Formats: sequence, C-alpha cells, structure tokens
Amino acid sequence: MTEVRLYNTLAREKQVFKPIDPLNVRMYVCGPTVYNYAHIGNARPVVVFDVLFRLLRHLYGTEHVKYARNITDIDDKIMAAADAEGVGIKAITRRYAEAYTANMASLGALTPSVTPKATEHLPEMIKMVQSLIEQGHAYEAEGHVMFNVPSMETYGALSKHGRDELIAGARVEIAPYKRDPADFVLWKPSTKNQVGWGSPWGRGRPGWHLECSCMIEKHLGETIDIHGGGQDLIFPHHENEIAQSECAHGKQFVKYWMHNGYLTVDGEKMSKSLGNFHTVDDLLKDHEGEALRLSLLTAHYRQPIDFSIESVNEQKRRLDRWYRITDNVEAASTVPETVVNALKDDINTPKAIAALDELAADETASELKAGAQFLGFITRSAAEWFQAGIAGDISPLAIDAMIDARNQARRERDFAESDRIRDELLGLGIALEDTPEGTLWRKAD
Ligand SMILES: [Zn+2]
Repeated sequence: MTEVRLYNTLAREKQVFKPIDPLNVRMYVCGPTVYNYAHIGNARPVVVFDVLFRLLRHLYGTEHVKYARNITDIDDKIMAAADAEGVGIKAITRRYAEAYTANMASLGALTPSVTPKATEHLPEMIKMVQSLIEQGHAYEAEGHVMFNVPSMETYGALSKHGRDELIAGARVEIAPYKRDPADFVLWKPSTKNQVGWGSPWGRGRPGWHLECSCMIEKHLGETIDIHGGGQDLIFPHHENEIAQSECAHGKQFVKYWMHNGYLTVDGEKMSKSLGNFHTVDDLLKDHEGEALRLSLLTAHYRQPIDFSIESVNEQKRRLDRWYRITDNVEAASTVPETVVNALKDDINTPKAIAALDELAADETASELKAGAQFLGFITRSAAEWFQAGIAGDISPLAIDAMIDARNQARRERDFAESDRIRDELLGLGIALEDTPEGTLWRKAD
C-alpha cells in the first residue's frame, strides 16, 4: 500500500504518516467558540479534516480511529453575547452548539468520536495549572495564573517566531503582573457578575488555550498523532497548547501538526461591512450542503481558497452530472484507488475530484458512486437530489400528472401543447429533462 504523506507544520515538510499505534490512531481539531453562527471560513477545517478522518478510518479501520473536536463554551465573547441578550451563557452556547452540529452535518461532516465541552473539564484544567505551577512553568499573580514562557526552552518551535514576534503576539494581554512580556494566561479571576469556578487561586475561569491541552489528555492521551486547525491558530493558540502539554507531561504532545489555509469570499477577506459575510446556516437555505462541501474541497487544503456563490453553483452542476450518471446504479464495493491515492498524498482533494470526473467521463458509474460516497457525496437518490428545494406551490403528484399530459401531447405530435406544459412548469420553477429512461424533473436553475 502506498504510504500516507502529510505536511507537518512542525517540520515544514511532507512526511510519511506513521501512527503511534495503528490500532488507536488519534486526531484532534480545534472546534468552535459557540457565541454565534459558524461562517463558511469556519467550515473549511471541519470539511478538510473530515476527509482526513474518512481516509484514516478507511486505512486503519473505523474502530481504530478516534477523532475529537471540542466545543468552547466558556469565553469572554460568549459572556458578552449573553449580556447583550440578557440571558445566561447556557442559553447562548446551547443554541449555537446545536446550530453548529446541524450545519456541519449538513456539510457531510461525520460526527467526531468525541465532542468534549470546556465547561465539563474544569477539574482537569485546574489540575494541569497546578502541575505547571509545581514544575516552575507557571506562577500566580493578582488572581491570575500565567504561563512563564522563558521557562520553556523550545517555546516558539511550531510558529518559528523569534523573541520579538512572540512578544508582539502576546501584547494583547498587557498586564503589570507579567514576569515576561510573552507570558500568557492560564487562569483569570471572575468578578461577582461573571461566570466563574472555584479554584486554589480564587473564583475564576480558564484562559482559552488551556482547554484543548486538557481535553486532548483526557480523551486521546498525552501524545497524539494529528492535531489540526486553521492556519490562524498556529500562534499563539497551538504554540501555547504545546507549551502547556509538553511542560505538564514532559513528553512530545503532537506528532503531526496540520493547518488549513485561509478562505476569502469574492476575492476579499470576509467581513460584515463588505456584505460578503456568509454563515453556513444562511447558505444552507439556498444551497445544497453537498455543493458547499464540494466547493470547499476544490482547492488543496493548504492553499488559500476563494469562495463565491458562482463556485457553489458550478459545483452543484458537477454534482448534477454525478447524480445523473449514478442514478439507479449500485456503488462498487471498493473505493477507486485513484481517489484513495490522491488523498494519501497530503489530502489532495482537487486530484481526487479530478479522478471522480474521469470516472464520470468514462460513465464508470458504480466506481464513481463508490468514490463520491467515500468523499461524502451522492448521499441521496437522484430523484431526491433533483427535486430538493422545490417550493410547496405544486405537489410532485401534480408535476407527474403534467409530465404525463405532456408526453401524451408529444406522442400525438401536438408540440404546441407539449411546449405549453413545459413552459408552465418552468414558470413554477421546475425544469424538465428528457432522458432515455423517461422525463426527469428538477428545480430550475
Ligand atoms: Zn485548540
């Protein structure tokens, strides 16, 4: 079998993937902070690492791969959102965690093996902070506990940041009690009106970086195979996860670090003021989840991707083609090698999609179906796919009756009548297509 090669951010090169234990392959991806709806940029790592999860399950066996993706349900942004609405933080986190789970499922992402929540890991977090203090890597100051960056010689190894960049990056947290300007927060105090938990350092709450280290230890172990996330998380978040975990445990934290590139929309950084801000929830109202998923996979995950509605529509047409070809065909029992090999090469999804297009061009329908399903596509029947999103103005039975009437007219060579029926359906948003198997209908573009 060809080896899996993955680009390891830590080494800045593609490396052969060798799991620590092939019977227990472990990966972790940083999940959402649930204070609003996920945008399409947030969905990119979810879809990309879902493809990796699928590949690993295929190669090592479903029961031998454990994938954890956390939910950050305590954060100052959540507290601000709760204050703005005059509700408790649970009302906010429950609403957006549910939406996130539903939205990502609509994008074809498999449910991770575990979805740990930060608020369910306070004892673990307090324990890790205590251990860091005892080992001289952290100190208490004015109700805060800070990680002391100079206490770790290898700090900065992932981001390759020099001392100046480290200080500049940590400057968001200016505080007089910092021993070193690069030090970062492990624990901070909560006021009476803020959410907090009792701790040896008083009532407070964890800094953001801490939860991932603790949840990884608890659910996956002290050393794991793969840790993924967006490029923007390399520094400081992932650098700080490494500092906490490696100083607490005295061993390597992650073997392979993987990061996906940025997403722009219509060539610009997504922003509410530019009007190019798309939440997944909104996009799913007008577009198929599979079309959104495919558009996120058209670029290699490490490259930047430019998202646009045109690209979603283009991928919808590609899926139309795949659905048409695979209609009423049984999927082959094995996934095509061309698809698997493309993914083994650092998750080369553009190459995998090209391999599926080749199968489509050859009308190798059962292989196409197996390959597409492996990647999370062709999850429905062609009839369901083409009829999805039809407005409730006309029932499928009525459409079928009109198609029968039109076929009757055509048999009688009454083309004026058959054209009239076609136009009437088009007016209702329904397009007809005559195929050797009969007349199919779908939502008009
Ligand atoms: Zn994280």
